[in-house]
Amino acid sequence: MRNKLADTLIKKGITDTNALEAIRTIPRHLFMDSSFEGHAYQDKAFPIAADQTISQPYTVAFQTQLLEVKPGQKILEIGTGSGYQTAVLLQLKAKVYTIERQLELFKKTKIFFAKLGYRPKKKIFGDGYKGLPEEAPFDGIVVTAGAPEVPRPLLSQLKVGGRLVIPVGTNDQIMTLYIRKSEKEFEKKEFGSFRFVPLLENKN
Ligand code: SAH
Repeated sequence: MRNKLADTLIKKGITDTNALEAIRTIPRHLFMDSSFEGHAYQDKAFPIAADQTISQPYTVAFQTQLLEVKPGQKILEIGTGSGYQTAVLLQLKAKVYTIERQLELFKKTKIFFAKLGYRPKKKIFGDGYKGLPEEAPFDGIVVTAGAPEVPRPLLSQLKVGGRLVIPVGTNDQIMTLYIRKSEKEFEKKEFGSFRFVPLLENKN
């Protein structure tokens, strides 16, 4: 079923062989609630706890492809959610730092990662809007929730040459890639339209 899912993603335009291999390897059904398990290898998003969603495999592969992860790179993920994207990044041998603002999901993935042997460098409960200044700079940052605008701290926490992949917009989002060209310059590229749960900023 995982091979079939990877074939579907190839048909939809995914070319990154490492991302596809991760999709073929990771047991997505274990990241989902048991009531949806039977649908785990469909290319669809599904509800998880705390009114959030596990991203559609195509979206995970697309964001991963844009990040161009190399082994050993430091990658920050905003929105741990089910932990599926985290697992994909770990499969690509990245050093992963992941932040989640819903306590229920944070606790759930903590136990789940330990059980399955997934080892992110850090798993943080908090507001990803601020990034993770104490661990910056990062080779890549991936935001897995829809941001009304690009949080400035995330741009400033990129290495020169680093890549930020972020869906930007309120109802629909445009997948946006920022590449840091120098201390002050960023190249911006826009890709298709996607739909994510909102990136929420902690106001307190
Ligand atoms: N990567 C996840 C996608 C989950 S949906 C997966 O593959 O399952 C997006 C997640 O972002 C949700 O869990 C949501 O709670 C979280 N989120 C939203 N705003 C956030 C913020 N400011 N900081 C950290 N996480 C946030």
